[in-house]
Amino acid sequence: MTGESRAGAVTDARLRVMASGSGGNLSILTLEARDLPPRHVCIDLGIGPRTLARRLAEHAPEIRLEDVAAVLVTHPDGDHLRSTWRRTLESNGWPVFAAPSHHASLATMAAPPRLLRPLADGGREVQILPDAVGASIVLAPHDDHGSTVIRLRVSTTRGDLHLGWVTDVGRPTEAMRSLLSGCEILCVESNYDAAMQAASPRPAFLKARITGGHGHLSNTQALDLVRSVATGPNPNRLVLLHLSRECNDTDLVRRLWASEESPGSDRTHVAEQERPIGPFDLLDRSRRAAVEPGGRSVAGVG
Ligand SMILES: [Zn+2]
Repeated sequence: MTGESRAGAVTDARLRVMASGSGGNLSILTLEARDLPPRHVCIDLGIGPRTLARRLAEHAPEIRLEDVAAVLVTHPDGDHLRSTWRRTLESNGWPVFAAPSHHASLATMAAPPRLLRPLADGGREVQILPDAVGASIVLAPHDDHGSTVIRLRVSTTRGDLHLGWVTDVGRPTEAMRSLLSGCEILCVESNYDAAMQAASPRPAFLKARITGGHGHLSNTQALDLVRSVATGPNPNRLVLLHLSRECNDTDLVRRLWASEESPGSDRTHVAEQERPIGPFDLLDRSRRAAVEPGGRSVAGVG
């Protein structure tokens, strides 16, 4: 084991969003380190194993499920943990990290209790992969259980990299803002456009559930949240998650962010339900920023 901690530092970090939306959410953070096989951390398992296998075969054949080292689950809803994962979890023994208040529900859904590991609400960091990834969380309002906002700290050979993950949260909170402050990479839900939501044929109770502070973030709430946690050049990459098919529009979201001092069109990505996006090289910006401080948006994408 001697020398492993040095070998554990990450030399390459990539993110793929394999699916995002009310039909299922699953992302994969891939970490490379010297002298080790790649390790993958899944964030949510909200599309089933067969759908994931199909998408990997087509878009990322180099990712092998045997190399999954850990799973994080944001909250116990079926579009974030699908029951069809139970057997795979049992046989692979992947540790499933989640807020303690979610464990009982996750166990009834798909996660064998022996594999559940607690994340600590309130900011104390928990090691996900020793020497490589730690996670701090706060709970955010969402339906009955709440949803977990995550800050991952990845120890890389270029220093620490911070990735914020915010999905299915009813509204921005102060605790969330302080957790996410200064993250280099932010993945934030931008669920609905308020006017489209209001005009939709959805029943009033559903609109109230979504917009009432315990549902999802609107596009403008997402924008407000990102503005409030931005510091210096960060976030230098932004991934917008969980767009509503019925009450949102990709072009509208892109236009909203294009007018912002956000990372630029080539570094602002909109996740999709049916098609994976990425891989995003999470370390390359730091390399570029060293050469070209303040980096500028590159035209042509989006
Ligand atoms: Zn969801």
